[in-house]
Amino acid sequence: MLAAISLSAIAMTAIVGLRYLLTSGVFAWVTSRKKPGLYRGMNKQIRSEIGWSLLSAAIYGIPAGIVAWGWQAHGWTRIYESWNDYPLWYLPLSVFLYLFAHDTWFYWSHRWMHIPRWFRIAHAVHHASKPPTAWAAMSFHPVEALSGAFIIPLLVLIIPIHMAMLGVVLAIMTIMGITNHMGWEMFPRPLVHSRLGYWLITASHHQRHHENYKCNYGLYFRFWDHLCGTDRGLSQP
Ligand SMILES: [Zn+2]
Ligand SMILES: [Zn+2]
Repeated sequence: MLAAISLSAIAMTAIVGLRYLLTSGVFAWVTSRKKPGLYRGMNKQIRSEIGWSLLSAAIYGIPAGIVAWGWQAHGWTRIYESWNDYPLWYLPLSVFLYLFAHDTWFYWSHRWMHIPRWFRIAHAVHHASKPPTAWAAMSFHPVEALSGAFIIPLLVLIIPIHMAMLGVVLAIMTIMGITNHMGWEMFPRPLVHSRLGYWLITASHHQRHHENYKCNYGLYFRFWDHLCGTDRGLSQP
């Protein structure tokens, strides 16, 4: 049993690590085509971002691996595979519920990590990226990585989700983590500055967090930032 759990954790670590290298690599390459020279002279910072991110991959991989094992061996999770198990309208709703729960956890744990004492311990590593690059997506101190590693494994135990929709959630998580840090806005201006954009976080929003530290704490949505008066609008990446 222990061997099976370990194997699952190792496999998940490898998957998360490779996913990171592949996706960040693709966006770094796109950046080099679209914004030549944006990362010039940043090799030392990028090496450190990759190092911390790969360490985070192991921290994310272990709880994910344990839950994946429990799902396969004991049916622990509420992940379902048949399209008929829940109504079709629940598919997009489940994606939203996952993103909103993750965003809520992120917003409050992130604010907590900006208390100076905890900042030094847990969050200074992430803010050492000045400005961040596409490689900073998982550049976290192990304490911060740990704070984020349990959320999806915990949610799959509680909120039903179709396997494919879980894939959508993980894809959004991965892509937003990169695009919010890569230093330029990938999404069209009309969307970023639209009424919908008022509620969504993209590079222009998170970049300001990396400049200012005391605002824009959210991950996907600006809901908590608006509600708590911590939203300071967009920067111009
Ligand atoms: Zn960041
Ligand atoms: Zn921060």
